[in-house]
Amino acid sequence: MKLLLMAAAAGVLMAGGLLLIAPVVILAATVAPPSGAVGDTSDALAADRTAGGPGPVIAGDVACPIGRPHHFTDTWGAPRSGGRAHQGVDIFADTGVPLYAYRAGTVRLTSSRLGGISLWITSEGGDRYYYAHLSGYAPGLQTGSRVEVGDLVGFNGNTGNARATPPHLHWEVHPGGGPAVNPTPYASAACRGATP
Ligand SMILES: [Zn+2]
Repeated sequence: MKLLLMAAAAGVLMAGGLLLIAPVVILAATVAPPSGAVGDTSDALAADRTAGGPGPVIAGDVACPIGRPHHFTDTWGAPRSGGRAHQGVDIFADTGVPLYAYRAGTVRLTSSRLGGISLWITSEGGDRYYYAHLSGYAPGLQTGSRVEVGDLVGFNGNTGNARATPPHLHWEVHPGGGPAVNPTPYASAACRGATP
């Protein structure tokens, strides 16, 4: 009887030990090793360059539509397949970098052969913003969802006709819901933390 109790107690201890070990392993896996020496003043900058960066850059009523790090140039009007002219700005970043609502508005989810997984945001005043080539949408986002400036709407990718290119956000600006205008100045201003 005494032996059985001891065995049971040992079993509990072992189970407890396993339970104790499990969180330690999880902690070890989730705490990333420091990328630089302790006290290195570049640590903050290094963190800022991690995928997705520290969150959306919001300035007033607009937000940079994509997290950091990213890069883009002005390719407005550049030739595209089928004789088309480029109607947006291609903002290159790793797959999975968060995409943010440039302005508050209402979302419509779409998909097409060219745009792949894509969405529109329509502001209260009727300005429209197009996001294409996503790898996926923000959890719970639906057509009709209301978003505030800087809200997560999806993740960068290369769906649609971008599948053979490096992942990027194709982003369009349609003032008043009309024809697209060159979005590069909008992106430049918003992503540098200043209003256009
Ligand atoms: Zn594009």
